[in-house]
Amino acid sequence: MSATTREIRLASRPHGEPTDEDFELGESPLPEPGPGEVLVRNSYLSVDPYMRGRMRDVKSYIPPFQVGEVLEGGAVGQVVASNDGRFEEGAWIQHMAGWREHALVGDGALAYPVDPAVAPIGTSLGVLGMPGLTAYAGVTEVAPVEEGETVYVSAAAGAVGSVAGQIARLRGCRVVGSAGSAEKVEWLTGELGFDAAFDYHDVELTQALREHCPKGIDVYFDNVGGDHLSAALGRMRVHGRVALCGAVAEYNEETPQSGPDNFVGVIPRRLSLRGFIVFDHAHLLKPFLSEVGAWVRAGDLRYRETVVEGLENMPSAFNGLLAGDNIGKMLVKVGPDPA
Ligand code: NDP
Repeated sequence: MSATTREIRLASRPHGEPTDEDFELGESPLPEPGPGEVLVRNSYLSVDPYMRGRMRDVKSYIPPFQVGEVLEGGAVGQVVASNDGRFEEGAWIQHMAGWREHALVGDGALAYPVDPAVAPIGTSLGVLGMPGLTAYAGVTEVAPVEEGETVYVSAAAGAVGSVAGQIARLRGCRVVGSAGSAEKVEWLTGELGFDAAFDYHDVELTQALREHCPKGIDVYFDNVGGDHLSAALGRMRVHGRVALCGAVAEYNEETPQSGPDNFVGVIPRRLSLRGFIVFDHAHLLKPFLSEVGAWVRAGDLRYRETVVEGLENMPSAFNGLLAGDNIGKMLVKVGPDPA
């Protein structure tokens, strides 16, 4: 084993789209696990849109990253040395010490075992991990969908959106998605079984929603905010529900965007708009893994991963995620797959 390991540190707080200079690829001595700790050789690292918010020095539901320190995020890898009775050497675990090739994970950390015999380990960061649970919470609890309803999902070909749309389909809804390329639209209406989809670059959003949701929208799963939220609000049916999951169109903006100019329409249509954070829905983990896991195993719910190779490419993978380079979950591969 090499005596050093590599990690990505935040070099400076980005303004607008992060640049190469905002990140530093560093090397440090390979650590030894202390009492209650394990040393993990990471295999897959997650890049997620919420990380852009943590690069700002603002108070939020999760503390900001610190300049000069290694970034954090979801990761899955194999235990190579263990002083924690919960995880033996050789076990695969999911944890939050990402953005590095090796991680020390303490017994107080959010870590849990992953069984490579059940599903490919990358799924623990995507369809069967946090993004999948976010989708499940959104369509079952935050803005519950009913059979026969029309559900519109934005950023529908991403990690969360692709799962949210498919769960709604499997619950008997008519599902419409928007995404940023013809290839994504084809994936949505082909393999994923969406009833309709469109590339938001090619259309006027209000007109596209009128065309694809002729009876209006009962549930809008909002991953984008901005113009998508505004257009969806204008097409909502009376008593419609909106799951405010994310606002990815705004994460690189330096000044906050103004809200939808048609917000007053929420009142006569008696709409419910609910923001949510997946951590508050941990009680759904068991039903989520049982229901969505069964659909994935049966091939009823499909997923894709866009895998970038090498820790040194993690910053560009992160920027690529915000620019729409991914289909399905964006992952960075930094170590071996299970044998
Ligand atoms: P995705 O896999 O969906 O990747 C982000 C996607 O956003 C890109 O692929 C891109 O796809 C799309 N996008 C980027 N800029 C724009 C834009 N200006 N307009 C429209 N689409 C854009 O990421 P995730 O699935 O991980 O996350 C999706 C959303 O869910 C994010 O907003 C994220 O913050 C949120 N989230 C919220 C959680 C919560 O607890 N509330 C938990 C996890 C995620 P395209 O090519 O289609 O433009």
